[in-house]
Amino acid sequence: MTQTLVEPKVKVDRKWQLWIDGKFEDGESERELYNPATGKVLTKVSEASTKQVEKAIKAARKAFDKGPWPRLTAQERSHFLFKIADKIEEHKEELAQLETMNGGKPIRESRYDVADAANCFRYYAGLVTKPSGQQVDVPAPSFTTIVREPIGVCGQIIPWNFPLLMAAWKLAPALAAGNTCVLKPSEYTPLTAIRLAEILSELELPNGVVNIVLGAGPSVGQPIAESTLVDKIAFTGSVKTGKLIASSALTNLKKVTLELGGKSPMVVFSDFDLDIAVDYALFAIYCNAGQVCSAGSRMIVEENIYDDFVKKMSARAKKIKVGAGLDENTEMGPLVSESQLKRVMEYIEIGKKEGAKLEVGGDRPTNKELGNGYFVSPTIFSNVKPDMRIAQEEIFGPVVVVEKFKTEEEAIELANDSQYGLAGAVFSNDITRAHRVVKAIRAGITWVNVYHNTYAECPWGGYKQSGWGRELGVAGLEAYTELKQININLDPQPVGWFAE
Ligand code: NAD
Repeated sequence: MTQTLVEPKVKVDRKWQLWIDGKFEDGESERELYNPATGKVLTKVSEASTKQVEKAIKAARKAFDKGPWPRLTAQERSHFLFKIADKIEEHKEELAQLETMNGGKPIRESRYDVADAANCFRYYAGLVTKPSGQQVDVPAPSFTTIVREPIGVCGQIIPWNFPLLMAAWKLAPALAAGNTCVLKPSEYTPLTAIRLAEILSELELPNGVVNIVLGAGPSVGQPIAESTLVDKIAFTGSVKTGKLIASSALTNLKKVTLELGGKSPMVVFSDFDLDIAVDYALFAIYCNAGQVCSAGSRMIVEENIYDDFVKKMSARAKKIKVGAGLDENTEMGPLVSESQLKRVMEYIEIGKKEGAKLEVGGDRPTNKELGNGYFVSPTIFSNVKPDMRIAQEEIFGPVVVVEKFKTEEEAIELANDSQYGLAGAVFSNDITRAHRVVKAIRAGITWVNVYHNTYAECPWGGYKQSGWGRELGVAGLEAYTELKQININLDPQPVGWFAE
């Protein structure tokens, strides 16, 4: 494949620092980051000490307790959020290239993510100025209103698969509601978050409203989750870490939202156009090389089209252009890290040992350009039984399993046979059946005859072990607020409960 490399707009060989209380500072240690497409060192970033994490939390505390941010009007905060969106757009190509260099995803996906991040800030900039709260008709003489107030200091811990977008999903609603934030990006992909901080620093946000600390989960994330100065923790990542976060949050019973993993089903009925279904199946699993929490990683296909589906999907999967993310022709990039590569290759071995049939992929490209990167070929397993580990566990790579069903009831049973409940899709031309099945799927994000559509306007989150609470939409803003009732006695008289 001939390469068409993007015109470089970004330099990574520079200082990457922490942002605490409105100032950039070096951390007390350094970490090397790798280019996932080559396996070579990309750059070095500063990482925070425990003291620096505490300093960031205290800065956010002070900015909330004494600073102007929570006391601004909604319209004033909205104004800042619109400016953040404009700034992201101004730097869109640079941010997209940085995302691809750091995380490996194809440049077309990074460009999409950057646009989505700006859109998220705009959505919350608009939403926060709309009417909220209630006036309640209680017995006179009380005048009673219910209002929403910011929660306080929000610790925000995010993963590596959508670094800038996850930062936007966390910061935009939190700031809109008047909170202050300590954000910890993944140690693998901190670059766009730091660049975002640099962009924010041009906007004269009050000091300490947003702080960005870099480093590993146990040394930097855990102290945030445990801190009694933090009022809410918003986490996106694996179920395993989500459970640790929930227990760390018990120190002061801080509010917790968790966006965790998935093993999402895509149910295909034989009345639907097979080629279109296969096209969506590729999109469902191979976007971002399968490193998407809502990836369609379990195809559940009606028996009478099963063989044709597997054959067509395998033929199309073989044609996917795997390559470096900075190549404009690349359709699927590498995995984010060597450890993720190892994990995915291990699951491929598990699948083979469990007796599933490897239809395509299962290997790493060995050619000169890609051989040292963290690439895995698009992989399909057929003859998969629901109790196999590859059908139950989140692989988080370009690996899909194809299961077979005979009846609608069986399709629903297979779709729901999971500890997860993040997303799910149904493909059928019978609208009544499609509606019945999609209603029966126990998941927070569902689609009919489409996959992966995500809207800032709609709540995002999962049933079962896919998490607690929702991000995005009105629910996403409410998750950054406390509810307060205010009762005003309009005609004070002696209460008369006790004798004088
Ligand atoms: P991870 O759980 O390993 O790490 C996520 C974040 O938590 C990182 O910043 C990490 O440094 C931090 N962390 C790790 N240990 C910690 C600890 N003890 N205390 C505090 N913080 C800690 O997840 P990952 O590998 O970065 O991301 C992949 C996972 O994220 C997948 O399971 C995926 O499904 C999930 N995800 C979910 C959504 C969603 O919206 N539901 C979106 C994206 C990713």
